[in-house]
Amino acid sequence: MAGYIYMHRKEKGEEVSGYVPWDDAKIHVLSHVIHYSSGVFEGIRGYLTRGGVAIFRGRDHYRRLVRSAKIYRMFPEHYAPRELRERGKVSQKDLVSHFMKLTKELIRKNDLCRKAKEVKDEGKMNNPFVYIRPVIYRGYDVKDDPILKPPLGVNPLGNPVEWFIATFLWDDYLGKEAIENGANVITSAWAKNSPSTTPFMAKGASNYATGQLAKMESVLSAFFKDYDVLERVKKGQPITKEDLFLAIESVQLTTSGYVAEGTGENIFVVMYENGDPGDPEDPKKVKIYTPPISASILPGITRDSIIRLAKDEGYEVIETMIPRELLYIADEVFFTGTAAEVTPISTVDGIPVGKGKPGRVTLHLRRLYTEIARGERPDKYGWVDFVEC
Ligand code: PMP
Repeated sequence: MAGYIYMHRKEKGEEVSGYVPWDDAKIHVLSHVIHYSSGVFEGIRGYLTRGGVAIFRGRDHYRRLVRSAKIYRMFPEHYAPRELRERGKVSQKDLVSHFMKLTKELIRKNDLCRKAKEVKDEGKMNNPFVYIRPVIYRGYDVKDDPILKPPLGVNPLGNPVEWFIATFLWDDYLGKEAIENGANVITSAWAKNSPSTTPFMAKGASNYATGQLAKMESVLSAFFKDYDVLERVKKGQPITKEDLFLAIESVQLTTSGYVAEGTGENIFVVMYENGDPGDPEDPKKVKIYTPPISASILPGITRDSIIRLAKDEGYEVIETMIPRELLYIADEVFFTGTAAEVTPISTVDGIPVGKGKPGRVTLHLRRLYTEIARGERPDKYGWVDFVEC
């Protein structure tokens, strides 16, 4: 039994919503979203704790989802369930509460707490967590003879707005090695869309076209660890996997060449005072930089959490355009994201970042973030929603 997906669809003009068995969760091939990327989505993380699942900033993710939909003119009155519409104008707050309620039900219905324990005990996953994937999209619905003029033009306004919520178990997004030793990344030749192309404040499917290309570019890339390897190649001597850095993620630039973000992560740069090579204990001797919203980035919820935590710890956080080469001379660089959490970056384009291993500031912020998210540290920010199971 693989579990259920909650779906809200239109069938012959009728609203149909409810839990659908995993294998039956299907949409029509002529759905608008398949052809024109007319979908927006979220990725939300639930941490498995002893008593249940701690959902991290679920309400903020659902708020971003409703806003992403609005940017594409998919308004709550198009997709809110009948029970909410019948109460009058649907507020964002009611919709978000409804999505949260369904998410909690779905986690329990899919028995994810027990399954996570099972896969961990059996050694099938390293660090299982609950991943929640809601999608709002333009679908397909035809009442009369479907062969006559199906609604498949670019204009999406005649297609129904549908949605679903899926929950499942996922494992370390960038791998165990990246968490322990830092990720090797490259700068992709595929830039982020510029602001007048697709809206980056919406977490829209179309934004991920360049992301996919950049991601493939990274996972198919490898760098020689040092010049010595290059000399051996020239002499025709064999090289092994250990001689290479394998890139696992790309950093994408804006169309004007500034650092934007990873394909599924925001990015931060840490600089120590006066380029002091020691690891400073004092937050006042550190500056943290991250690209601003205007750098074609998704306004990440983990990014926002890390900015708040860092400021509360006394670090100065500066949102500013970042040239690519700052990544090469930085003392620490790290990614943030729901799936990636806080992942240190140890090399960029084959150049070691700082000491080439996770830095003190990165690890400190990661510890604070994960302890709050897992309910191991008082949550003074009100970020965690708990589901008992
Ligand atoms: N940028 C992109 C392109 C992403 O896909 C994500 C993951 N949602 C992020 C940044 C990080 O956002 P968040 O912290 O909200 O997961």
